[in-house]
Amino acid sequence: MQISRKRDGSQYQEELSKCMLCGSCKALCPTYNTDALESMSARGRLMLLRGLVTGKLTPSPLLNERIFSCILCGACKESCPLGVDIIEAIYSGRALLKKSDKKRKHLRFLAKFSSRWPEFSFKMLQMSQHIFLPVLAKKGLIPFAPELPEAAFKSKDQVYKVHRKKGRVAIFTGCSVNFFFPHLGESLINVMKKIGYEVVIPKGEVCCGAPLRSLGLEEEAVELAKKNIRVFNKLKVEAILSLCPTCVLAVKNDYGKYIGDGIEKAMDISVFLNDKLDVSDPINKTSFYHDPCHLYYGLGVKKEPREIIKKAGVELVDSEDPGCCGFGGLFCFSNRDISDNLLIERTKKFIDSKADTVITSCPGCMLQLSRTINDRPVLHIIELIEDAYCYRQSNKKVKMK
Ligand code: SF4
Ligand code: SF4
Repeated sequence: MQISRKRDGSQYQEELSKCMLCGSCKALCPTYNTDALESMSARGRLMLLRGLVTGKLTPSPLLNERIFSCILCGACKESCPLGVDIIEAIYSGRALLKKSDKKRKHLRFLAKFSSRWPEFSFKMLQMSQHIFLPVLAKKGLIPFAPELPEAAFKSKDQVYKVHRKKGRVAIFTGCSVNFFFPHLGESLINVMKKIGYEVVIPKGEVCCGAPLRSLGLEEEAVELAKKNIRVFNKLKVEAILSLCPTCVLAVKNDYGKYIGDGIEKAMDISVFLNDKLDVSDPINKTSFYHDPCHLYYGLGVKKEPREIIKKAGVELVDSEDPGCCGFGGLFCFSNRDISDNLLIERTKKFIDSKADTVITSCPGCMLQLSRTINDRPVLHIIELIEDAYCYRQSNKKVKMK
């Protein structure tokens, strides 16, 4: 489905009319499973959007709430026999509803501000992290007060060279690694250098645009997408690696749908690294693996992270069992109750298990899961890879003790 920049509803009318109302998409929908209301399911939301486009329904606080309470996990698309692109329909619906949606007005302002001035926003957050953020978290106005690093990951154009170069890759850092988890970016550089890859971190990367689209800010997301395409598509690299599946999904798949061009070489690190790693000193620990929705449903990456974990000598105590953690980027700020319920439901199994660690492939899932899992590490898979392939092989300090 080619989508034009103008969002008057006509672009996705055809997509909406494809739906035969079978209801298969309800089975995996996390918001339907927490509420059991038809209008909280994928099918219900499509019906509401159909009503909106045909003029039978008009924007109202309740209608807005239903359309903005989808966490955009993509489980419904996977279970739809007709492949209805429900998420694109929801993005389009949100673009139509944004003016009437007063509840998220401040979040829109903050999202636009921070995507335009990310470094300045980071500095402001740093200054307030020990004063305002804990107070806001205590009052329940934000879901958690994040601990911020001293410096962001990206400050300038950088190239990390290696001896006996096997290849060259670039990193699409993403806001969460850049401003919340710079150590993950450093782990990725260590791993890539260890296996002989030169790493480029280009200047000029901007937010992938997914948080803005989730609030209906299509035009702003288009501007960001064009900037990223200009920066990344001119690089002479084998792959563009990211530690955030939401970023990969946005730049590789979604850009094509709304600006007609994507960053084709973008990929999740587990896809790139799976056949390049050899372990000599297994870790001998147990772990749960949490599938991030955008990796599992959006990009269809299911086996690679598990294979890497097993190759590192870590025993997985779970079978494949996806489930949303409730993070959803800005969703955990705008839909606190649903987000908290999903988190509690998702972490029950982890908490009851004897696994030494919880491993995932998304910085956002790490942030969310760490809110309730306090008795064992919640790691990004790159930290496990770094332990297995860099530290253990050189007897350095390891994270999975
Ligand atoms: S994207 Fe996820 S939350 Fe939204 S309708 Fe589909 S399954 Fe439900
Ligand atoms: S599974 Fe597909 S066709 Fe069936 S109700 Fe859901 S969106 Fe419509």
